[in-house]
Amino acid sequence: MPKEQSEIFWEMDDLVLKTKKTSVNIETTTNAAGSRRWVESTKSYCENAKGEPFIIGVLSDITELKTREEALIIAEQKAREAAKIKTQFLANISHEIRTPMNGVMGMTSVLQNTDLTTEQEDMVSVIERSADSLLAIINDILDSSKMETGKFKIDQAPFLLSDIVDDIAALLGVTANAKGIELVIDIDDETPKVLLGDAGRLRQVLINLIGNGIKFTETGYVVLKVKTQIDDAAKRKRIHFFIRDTGMGIEKDQLENIFNKFEQVDGSTTRKVGGTGLGLSISRNLINLMGGDISVKSNVNSGSVFFFTLDLPYDENAPIEKAKTPDTFIDFKGRRALIVDDLDVNLSVLKSNLERHSMVVDQAKSAVEATALLKAAIANKTRYDVIITDFLMPKIDGLSLVKAIKNSAYFKSTPLMVLSSVDTVDSQSSFQKYDIDKYLIKPVKTAKLLQEIANILPKAASQTGRRLETETASKTNVTSKEGCAGRILLAEDNAINRQVFQMALVPEGYDLDSVENGKLAFDHFQREKYDVILMDVSMPVMDGLEATKAIRDYEAVHKLTPTPILALTAHSSAEDRVRFMKTGMDEVLSKPLKAGDLIEKVKSMLPEKAKN
Ligand code: ADP
Repeated sequence: MPKEQSEIFWEMDDLVLKTKKTSVNIETTTNAAGSRRWVESTKSYCENAKGEPFIIGVLSDITELKTREEALIIAEQKAREAAKIKTQFLANISHEIRTPMNGVMGMTSVLQNTDLTTEQEDMVSVIERSADSLLAIINDILDSSKMETGKFKIDQAPFLLSDIVDDIAALLGVTANAKGIELVIDIDDETPKVLLGDAGRLRQVLINLIGNGIKFTETGYVVLKVKTQIDDAAKRKRIHFFIRDTGMGIEKDQLENIFNKFEQVDGSTTRKVGGTGLGLSISRNLINLMGGDISVKSNVNSGSVFFFTLDLPYDENAPIEKAKTPDTFIDFKGRRALIVDDLDVNLSVLKSNLERHSMVVDQAKSAVEATALLKAAIANKTRYDVIITDFLMPKIDGLSLVKAIKNSAYFKSTPLMVLSSVDTVDSQSSFQKYDIDKYLIKPVKTAKLLQEIANILPKAASQTGRRLETETASKTNVTSKEGCAGRILLAEDNAINRQVFQMALVPEGYDLDSVENGKLAFDHFQREKYDVILMDVSMPVMDGLEATKAIRDYEAVHKLTPTPILALTAHSSAEDRVRFMKTGMDEVLSKPLKAGDLIEKVKSMLPEKAKN
């Protein structure tokens, strides 16, 4: 042992003798052959029978272990770096994909507003649906990489649960119906209208779970059930969400795995349904961020139920952006309905919705039961104000029931509604032959259903009908297309996007000047007067933020009324929005955008005088 090293060892021995404490150290030493070794030394204080102190020292050569440990540390560092690069790559590539997607989606919606043959309309709608699902995949990838880097925030804002659920019913109901399965929505009365939380993310989770339910179910139904427990003192509601399906189910040993990224029970290339395997992992992450957790129970071949619970603060008085609550409560007091459906869930949801609006409801589980109730009504000389029936029922279907009702002199003129999950022209026209009052495709938004019932009830009761008419009239009072609807300056570096904006806005009567960068936008702004400026964020020469700042400074110096600026961007996190607003932008729209959304937004930003 080299001298310097033995001196150190002596010192350490002395310390053990003094303190009588065992010391354990990992150190390097050079052996007699001159090779450097890692050793673990343990030195313990001992005394012999006479009470004389001595030390027992054990040296273990751990060089091999150390070498492996060092290799592992380097490997880990490399792995972390690779993961970071992958995340960065995913974020970049997603952004790059979104930009051309804007061209595809924008042009598609422009195309939809032109004169098309039926065949062409079908083609365009295939493009639209494909673009939508491609965008959903890109968004999933982006979300998942953001979660990995911990750059993910949950918003906290008042929202209406019914808005989300109605949206989902409209969106996924079509897919469910096309497969011949039912989507049933069942929300209990205790659920508060206004909750505080991240509506967009909750919607995403529900779409994912309900979408999976539909995807993995061949026959039967998918139910979304929402149950609420109240804790008034804490001003919080514990809300339980259940998504139950009657589909293929999941093997016990797979129940936890499916929440892992990219994990699918059937991951083969020959599998029947598509999917990236990201949905459940993102959903679990989102619910965790909201303070809950998702679990699943399932039996192979008899279906699955995914459930989660959220403690959401609520505030009945919170102001809601774009609140869609109907401003008059539809009252069916004194009215009676007969509802017919073979599915219990459907009956109970419909019944409770109608009863909440003071309707008296009789229910029948089949056409036979319905006929018995109708006969009893004739015998007792009572009437129904409306009969609502399902179409597909075992044994006797809704069509035969409708036929029987229309053949009965007593019930012939009773308002009749068919609530069906069959969405074909044929089925509708076979009912229309019997002059029914309304054919609606399930699932129907509750508000719409109530409105439709009010519309077909004998006139005296449908006070709400008039209100609806005036509402649509004011909506159609849009900016006139003759003359100029408004002057718009567009700054956007991508030529295809410029063309998309032009084709969306010019037919609406807007006068549009397009430029390729912020610098040109600022030059134009100084020379001309615009009603709205559409500003891309990333542009060469001068970006949108700099240009906005220049415009706002100019306005301040010259005491001009600020021109509304709408930011157009493919990055649209909450922080970005705040950053844009701080720079002086008024609104943000994320690309890819739909022509309808753009026009709507531009209209809402026009100064009052341009609107008239
Ligand atoms: P994806 O649906 O894109 O494959 P998810 O993460 O949403 O990804 O789901 C992962 C896997 O979990 C699915 O591929 C499927 O095997 C299983 N799974 C999810 N939901 C259900 C369900 N309701 N019924 C049966 N299997 C399901």
